[in-house]
Amino acid sequence: MKYSVKAPAKINLSLDVCHKREDGYHEVEMVMTTIDLADRIELSTHERDEITIESSGGYVPSDSRNLAYQAADLLKKTFNRSEGLHITIDKHIPVSAGLAGGSSDAAATLKGLNYMWDLGLSLDELAELGSQIGSDVAFCVYGGTAIATGRGEKIQRISSPPPCWVVLAKPSIGVSTADVYRNLNLDQIEHPNIDQMVDAIESKDYEAICASLGNVLESVTLNEYPEVRHIKKQMERLGADGVLMSGSGPTVFGLAVHETRAQRIYNGLRGFCNEVYMVRMLGESE
Ligand code: ATP
Repeated sequence: MKYSVKAPAKINLSLDVCHKREDGYHEVEMVMTTIDLADRIELSTHERDEITIESSGGYVPSDSRNLAYQAADLLKKTFNRSEGLHITIDKHIPVSAGLAGGSSDAAATLKGLNYMWDLGLSLDELAELGSQIGSDVAFCVYGGTAIATGRGEKIQRISSPPPCWVVLAKPSIGVSTADVYRNLNLDQIEHPNIDQMVDAIESKDYEAICASLGNVLESVTLNEYPEVRHIKKQMERLGADGVLMSGSGPTVFGLAVHETRAQRIYNGLRGFCNEVYMVRMLGESE
């Protein structure tokens, strides 16, 4: 039996850090939405009672460190499944990019196995299991657009933004999320207005969405990595309606309503950045 599941990337339209908790995690408030840049996960059973994994992309672990492996292992142990499983990841989402690629692979694996093994779990139950693997997995289980709080695992779904183009550019540097949080000075940050972003989305006001984009981690990454700052400036110069870094970076995205504008931004960035993508915002969960 073979089963194939799409695992879309997310972008942060808004990311705020409220405070550091006693357990060491940061309390966050984020607005996230899925985009049409996706990995494809293929699940197939095999006879030996083990999980094997292969991925088309470099820099992705093909053992128990892979988040898709961890998702399968968690379901297998929780429901005492004895069959073996092979997971193939056709990787399209850039790795360590602030786009939750690994979390989305884990969420797709949970959803695929729920179907394949006929477990009958609800999305809420899958999200609860997913949050044991990583903070962004719960959001990826639901997809669509949502407000995420806690360490990112408490999800409140909201309606989708109006359709638009998203151009993404990832400079060829790795950014450590832990380092970005370590360098964040909570006394000096300007908090984005999350309520304003949610209102803008609910009223499908594209201009207000662009005006409300904000990410407190952006200034940390822009200060450390001039190439990220350069990409942001170029996106603005090429006419994006709104530009923001996603997550802890280093991917920067620009929004555009018209395809010709998005194409111009894409072409302009291709001149100096290898990893550039032009995709649609997905909005409602599939
Ligand atoms: P987030 O936006 O949730 O912080 P990210 O986009 O910055 O995530 P990922 O691409 O999810 O980062 O990868 C982060 C780390 O997780 C990498 O070091 C990678 O080796 C590891 N990893 C584990 N499983 C996967 C997977 N299925 N795909 C990509 N990376 C994975």
